[in-house]
Amino acid sequence: MNVQTIVCDVCGNEKQCIPYEAETGDVICENCLQICYVVAMKDKKSNRYFSVGIKGTYEEGEILAKQLINDFGTFEDYKIEKIMMTKHFIEATTSGRTITEISPRELKKHLKDGGKSICLLDIREDFEVEKDLIPGAVHIPIQRIPARIHELDRKKEYIIICTAGYRALYICEFLQENGYKVKTLKGGMLGWKGLGFVVPLAVSTMKAASKLRGRKKDDLL
Ligand SMILES: [Zn+2]
Repeated sequence: MNVQTIVCDVCGNEKQCIPYEAETGDVICENCLQICYVVAMKDKKSNRYFSVGIKGTYEEGEILAKQLINDFGTFEDYKIEKIMMTKHFIEATTSGRTITEISPRELKKHLKDGGKSICLLDIREDFEVEKDLIPGAVHIPIQRIPARIHELDRKKEYIIICTAGYRALYICEFLQENGYKVKTLKGGMLGWKGLGFVVPLAVSTMKAASKLRGRKKDDLL
């Protein structure tokens, strides 16, 4: 690609640079460019794709895909696609995103201070919680949540816990749509134990990106 004179759609500056076209259709300069990867996981039973996005590298995308295959046990395949986004689009969708995280450090401090008004909800499988349930956490395996949702209290705030923080995002969206106050534990139990494999996640961004690329929202688990 050649260097051209462009007016960047994001920063508005006139620049001599290689123009990039973002997923949003904006022509942008290199300063406003954010390379992302969409990791699309194929579910064995439904053949549907569950997509998450990362701001990291292709290799981090692969690590994430393998971890998701391990965590869920229901994915048979994955695809990783590079996409160009504008930095401001990522910031807008991730900072304004409806699901908030609590870091392990913040949670520990909160629990030390008495942990008023919050409730820990661990959504991992029975065999996963046998050895390391956080004291005081309620355990409801992920697939039992819809049937047992009435056990949850809309006045409380739930911190949703899984292994690495991905399953929790899915359940957070579900609970939020049903009127519950929720946060995810950033990095899940791995983060809690200080093993934090933390990938900047931008699920909502990637949902938007998938939409832009013409996928139906229903294709996303
Ligand atoms: Zn720019």
